[in-house]
Amino acid sequence: MASAGTTCAWRCAGGIELRVGTGYDSHRFDADRELILGGVLIPDHAGLLGHSDGDAVAHAVIDAILGAAAAGDVGSHFPPTDATWKDADSIGLLKAAAGVLRERGYEVVNVDVTVVCETPKIRPHAVAMSHRLAEAMAISADRVSIKGKTNEGLGWIGAGEGLAVHAVALIGKADR
Ligand code: MG
Repeated sequence: MASAGTTCAWRCAGGIELRVGTGYDSHRFDADRELILGGVLIPDHAGLLGHSDGDAVAHAVIDAILGAAAAGDVGSHFPPTDATWKDADSIGLLKAAAGVLRERGYEVVNVDVTVVCETPKIRPHAVAMSHRLAEAMAISADRVSIKGKTNEGLGWIGAGEGLAVHAVALIGKADR
């Protein structure tokens, strides 16, 4: 039911405004870097090229939560032209992005992530990634889902040139 005095088009009966956002990121593999995904170091695999640590999972999640709040994106908050973010720990950037949401009164309800790559296998690292991402957003790990898919050998992902990440986030704001 919409309540008087709000500009929100839809609010659920509990007086919670719910908003959804999506995030996408892709990075090229770079054999000279360590692979960090979802804040987890994955050994014995090429890393990801990028100005920061290249953590495409963290970047997609940042875009999803900021997008849900209509609060910009990873590039506008942490521009690659700014030397501050060179080799930055992207989990730290996610923490900062979650802080932007809290300042606006939002909390992250849940995040669902799909990593598309031929290698590495994502499943053995999914629980660790959930915990790292959840901790950065100050939510419980059962609110963060990580799934891996291959691209069935197709295109640039299939050729092993890099990986892509899709993320969806639901955020909520209580009526005050
Ligand atoms: Mg990125």
